[in-house]
Amino acid sequence: MNGIVMNNCETYIKCRLCREGNLKPCLRLRHSARNISRLLRHNELQSDMPIDLYVYECQECGFVQLAQMLEPSFYDDYLMTSSHSAQMKTFQQAQASEFVRCFALSGKRVIEVGCGDGNYLDYLRQAGANVAGIEASSRFQELSRKRGFTVFSGYVGRESVIPESPWDGFVIRQVLEHVPDPNGFLQGIRASLGSGAVGLVEVPSLEQSLDNGRFYDFFADHVNYFSARTLRYALERNGFEVIDVSREMGGEYNVVLVRIAQCSELTGLQRIVDTLTEEIGDFIESYRRIGKRVAIWGAGGKGVTALAVANVQGVAYVVDSDPYKQGLFTPVSHLPIGAPKMLAEDPVEAVVITALAYRDEIITQLRKSIGFTGQVAVLGHHLQII
Ligand SMILES: [Zn+2]
Repeated sequence: MNGIVMNNCETYIKCRLCREGNLKPCLRLRHSARNISRLLRHNELQSDMPIDLYVYECQECGFVQLAQMLEPSFYDDYLMTSSHSAQMKTFQQAQASEFVRCFALSGKRVIEVGCGDGNYLDYLRQAGANVAGIEASSRFQELSRKRGFTVFSGYVGRESVIPESPWDGFVIRQVLEHVPDPNGFLQGIRASLGSGAVGLVEVPSLEQSLDNGRFYDFFADHVNYFSARTLRYALERNGFEVIDVSREMGGEYNVVLVRIAQCSELTGLQRIVDTLTEEIGDFIESYRRIGKRVAIWGAGGKGVTALAVANVQGVAYVVDSDPYKQGLFTPVSHLPIGAPKMLAEDPVEAVVITALAYRDEIITQLRKSIGFTGQVAVLGHHLQII
């Protein structure tokens, strides 16, 4: 195994992040190492061949990436020992403790994705979090378990969520730059979280490499290079809300704090579909049962949609002041549409207003011009009886 999957650079045209884009090769590093994490034994020197490394920038989203990818199994027995520097230890301890304190994660379930040897899990545990890790490398799993941590084995992806979900918090440190499908990876994490979950994401800073002319920061093991902007974009694109972005460790790292983005109000709307449908149905049925009838005012988009989705049965007819709609029928519910004067000619006992923008005007017209004395209801979160 040489550790590299070579893509044909000529045909590598789609951005790994935005899936669009026009990738422009911006840097070529001849005689690069096939990977930097596996140092060689003497008997491997003969077969070791350099590669040309191409670094691309997406013209659409600005994401910097390699065309080459490591073999999917590359990390199965990966081992990079964690730094023993005092400065790093102080930084990580403070970061873990601040993360737990800031988001009140003490006693909460926090997962570190790519937990390595469990070094950082220790700091999270010291800060009070109830931690576990997930790790692809069997050698790392063993080291983490020796420290007494629960460690799940495997990779996280769109189809593979983290076991024992949902989690209250997550940490991904120095991992995202290795991941061949960052969207799938982030979506897998998001699917493993409970509502309100928070996370800490740390990657090497692309800004630091560029500002300091560090071409040697580009190597095969890192297929992704995140600036603060593209890291934010990647997270927001996959369902996270970015709370804070900072440069840490003398500018070496981009660190982002996120929370799971709240579902839009659309989830709430789904509940309203059910309740309002039931209420409209009950309203019409309550009249029908005693031999009375209900009409609808409004054959515009709202009226047509409400009648269709609510699968309304037993409505007498629809009225609309637009002469171009009169004489026609509503789609799906197939109700005849007439002029408002129909309410005087063929009286009903109740009217439901769906033309909400004209609600007050319609009520006035009903009561004053038409002399309607029956019940009037209007669509809202619930069916409102006026
Ligand atoms: Zn892109």
